Amino acid sequence: MKLFAIFGDPVAHSRSPLMHNHVFRSLGFEGCYTRIQLKEGSKLRETFFNLGLSGANVTVPHKEAAFKACDEIRGFANRIGVVNTLINENGKLIGYNTDADGFNFAIKSFGQLNKILIIGAGGTAKAIGGFYWELGLDVNILNRSEGRLDYFKAEGMNTHTWNNMPIESYDLIVNTTSAGLEDDNLPAPIELLKPLLQKASFSADAIYGKVTPFLKLSAELGITAKDGADMLLGQGVLANNYFAEGRYDLKEIERYMKESFLF
Ligand code: NDP
Repeated sequence: MKLFAIFGDPVAHSRSPLMHNHVFRSLGFEGCYTRIQLKEGSKLRETFFNLGLSGANVTVPHKEAAFKACDEIRGFANRIGVVNTLINENGKLIGYNTDADGFNFAIKSFGQLNKILIIGAGGTAKAIGGFYWELGLDVNILNRSEGRLDYFKAEGMNTHTWNNMPIESYDLIVNTTSAGLEDDNLPAPIELLKPLLQKASFSADAIYGKVTPFLKLSAELGITAKDGADMLLGQGVLANNYFAEGRYDLKEIERYMKESFLF
């Protein structure tokens, strides 16, 4: 029996154990997936190996620590310095990022986008921002504080804090902050957020499992919005495929993972 886990803080809200365990069971894969609340990201590597894990997911706020903990990084995670999936490959820790592909899968129905605004400047913003920047979109970042904007500035994206944000039109506004996850906060002051949303075509929240204040405001303003459930599904299918070492069809994994959303 292989053991897997999700590391985060908070992590009690995570649906990943339910999703991955249902897929493992349905496909006859001998795996068990649990959740671990980890306070210090610096303890990630030793905790992973002490528990004898075969693989893991990493959520808020340890995705950048996960990048540092790895022996080898593969694919898009190299580009952004953020890891959400860990694999134990013969005692070596291999890191991947499946968040950006997961998000792109989630917003397929919004059609072609040209100009997007990402609120937040953490690991998820790097994944989504980096992904669309590489595809040539006009990517703009709005964050509460200045510090984390350096990465995005260096990439050439437009960056703003609450103090210097112009009100412009965007095809999509995405909340990648943890505001609304465990509190009732909007990701930016309402005086700023409301006029921005009023000019936007679509909005999306990375948070899932609840109607966040950001989603509530979007609905009040009549904007087509998505919560983070499809992103969760998209990143989860790809992570599960790494856990099972590509043994199963992606469509089959997706089918069972979707099924777990009904529980
Ligand atoms: P990080 O800790 O890396 O970044 C958090 C960001 O949120 C920072 O930019 C921080 O700003 C900002 N922030 C935190 N609190 C507030 C607040 N009260 N008001 C405004 N800004 C705030 O987190 P991650 O990028 O890893 O995750 C962010 C969210 O995305 C989480 O809620 C997570 O659950 C969700 N997520 C969902 C996924 C899914 O599959 N649906 C996948 C990945 C993430 P500052 O720099 O000023 O501190």
